[in-house]
Amino acid sequence: MKNPFDTDERRAFRDSMKRFVDEKIKPHADEWDEAGDVPWSLHEEVGALGVFGFGVSEKYGGLGFDDCFMRAAYGEEFAKCGASGVPAALGGRSISIGPIEKLASDEIKERVLEDIVRGRKGSSLAVTEPSGGSDVARLKTTAKRDGNHFVINGSKTFITGGMKSDCFVVGARTGGEGLSGISLFFVEADAPGFSRTLIDKKMGWWASDTATLYFDDVRVPAENMLGDENLGFIQIMHNFNHERLGMIASMLGMMKVCLESSVEYAQERETFGKPLIKSQVIRHKIADMSARIDMVEAYLNQMCWQANEGDMPVAEICKGKFSASKALEFCASEAMQIWGGAAYLRGNPVERIYREVKVNAIGGGSEEIMRDLAVRQMGL
Ligand SMILES: Cc1cc2nc3c(=O)[nH]c(=O)nc-3n(C[C@H](O)[C@H](O)[C@H](O)COP(=O)(O)OP(=O)(O)OC[C@H]3O[C@@H](n4cnc5c(N)ncnc54)[C@H](O)[C@@H]3O)c2cc1C
Repeated sequence: MKNPFDTDERRAFRDSMKRFVDEKIKPHADEWDEAGDVPWSLHEEVGALGVFGFGVSEKYGGLGFDDCFMRAAYGEEFAKCGASGVPAALGGRSISIGPIEKLASDEIKERVLEDIVRGRKGSSLAVTEPSGGSDVARLKTTAKRDGNHFVINGSKTFITGGMKSDCFVVGARTGGEGLSGISLFFVEADAPGFSRTLIDKKMGWWASDTATLYFDDVRVPAENMLGDENLGFIQIMHNFNHERLGMIASMLGMMKVCLESSVEYAQERETFGKPLIKSQVIRHKIADMSARIDMVEAYLNQMCWQANEGDMPVAEICKGKFSASKALEFCASEAMQIWGGAAYLRGNPVERIYREVKVNAIGGGSEEIMRDLAVRQMGL
């Protein structure tokens, strides 16, 4: 589908993403996903592409500009590797660099930001807790002031990149109950009292390390507070916008893999003496998948244009995220049917994408919560 907002620069950026994925990720995607890991050299190679540097000043190794279309091209093209656990393994940065760049002290930024942006260090966002992820306003981890320090106690779970990350953006309660008692902190993995365990045996995203983090009297300097005290909730909500746009772009890439691989398979596979693609039932599945993809793509382009204009389309992002996960669920299921038994075998992108649908429908704001927020944005 043509993007009315395309430019030579954006096309060139997308082409460079596609080339990188084709040459450096696709040949290894199966192996890395089965191994449950990606080599650290990949973090550094992807860092060198500049994709962690959107909105980050050149002083800290960033691109010195932001462009939502390029962010989306990165999300979509990387998801086309067919194992979205691979980009997820790198992506803890994408959802934690924003608060570090915008809210951290100069000392912290000078010490770590360039290493994170270049892929030499990892960073993760730690909001979800064992007691729940949807109701951020009720998080239980505490940060109590002690002189020039805060002392953090509690735990976080489902943290993407959590086993390998060197630093974390952590939501903790500094005030009373509810959303006006939460602050954000920059916490480093070598802080005494910090520990972590791997969450193994996930349904999907095998290549990505997911962790539970424990904070047992972790002392951080008061300067490690990111932004203003008790304004963490609003910062977390702002940060979700880019995360959700990135997930929509990634789902678009996954849907395109479902469609393209289904067309290819249906052209080759013969049943009842003719190619599968000649069957009207299969042709209708292709039409239905293609229509859903076009709609998500057009909607994403519109949202990217608005975000670039400085007017973050929060309601549309919520509607876009649950519409995209529903469209992905449909495309993955139809692709499985077109492939038949062959899709039930491991090592097939369709099989993997079918398993990866739910992390997109739940993570980063579930379908139910996205619907709720969308309606609230309508003033209801
Ligand atoms: C692989 C993976 C990676 C993740 N990475 C990160 C990460 O890096 N950092 C991070 O902080 N978090 C991360 N998460 C956590 C994710 O954001 C949460 O799982 C998500 O927000 C939902 O929280 P929950 O699982 O605790 O479900 P809950 O909040 O317990 O909700 C359970 C179910 O009930 C539904 N529900 C809740 N309240 C309502 C309601 N009022 N009405 C109707 N339905 C409702 C929800 O939609 C959900 O389906 C990750 C999750 C996964 C699976």
